[in-house]
Amino acid sequence: MNPSRSCLVMGNWKMHGNLADNAVLLAGLVAGAQRAGHAQLAVCVPFPYLVQAQQALSGSAISWGAQDVSVHAHGAYTGEVSAAMLADFGVSWVLCGHSERRALHAETSSVVAAKAAAALSVGLTPVVCVGETLSDRDADNADCVIADQLEPVLALGADALAKMVIAYEPVWAIGTGRTASPEQAQAIHSLIRAALVQHGSGATPILYGGSVKPANASALFAQADIDGALVGGASLVAEDFLNIAASAA
Ligand code: PEP
Repeated sequence: MNPSRSCLVMGNWKMHGNLADNAVLLAGLVAGAQRAGHAQLAVCVPFPYLVQAQQALSGSAISWGAQDVSVHAHGAYTGEVSAAMLADFGVSWVLCGHSERRALHAETSSVVAAKAAAALSVGLTPVVCVGETLSDRDADNADCVIADQLEPVLALGADALAKMVIAYEPVWAIGTGRTASPEQAQAIHSLIRAALVQHGSGATPILYGGSVKPANASALFAQADIDGALVGGASLVAEDFLNIAASAA
């Protein structure tokens, strides 16, 4: 991590949780938040639990976000949730283009960029996820895949890029227990950084995601272009999530 940039540790609860378990998890995070040291903590929760997150985290140092957003502002889009609706619940962050959305809901990179633009239009910070599959990596194609996924996002321009976060999440490392080595992660992060610099926004934070755990977090955070983590499974256990954040110290 470059010491001039701050560290962001963001949880992605995916489709996990219920009111009772969330209450315990959120209370554990609030109680232990000071252990995060200089790392900024955030959780991206399922839509129905945004109000619970807002109530539990308001006034704490932990911010909250959503896991998806509509490209549309309003209208006949049954089941969709607009960025303005998210803003009504104090949301700060919106995941855009998580690999599960790309794979299971056919989200293209241009749709992902449109979602990022929708989030920005109401002052939310998009966290744009990119990452290659195992077959892309085995075919030595990871760099091209990441460049293609980034292209429509980079086209939003320097002002937009300065207000977003990029998360590099190799698909083969998500939920598999198999993390990218710090060197593999850094190699892609430095490509992303170079693209951001070329588009006038070198300070945009770049998170790493994919089986981040307390045991591997500090080696990842030691890399020059890793500015924090997007954490799935380990964000469901307060102790693990806080220990990951504490590794950034
Ligand atoms: C994720 O869902 O964004 C993720 C990185 O999951 P995990 O940490 O479980 O691999």
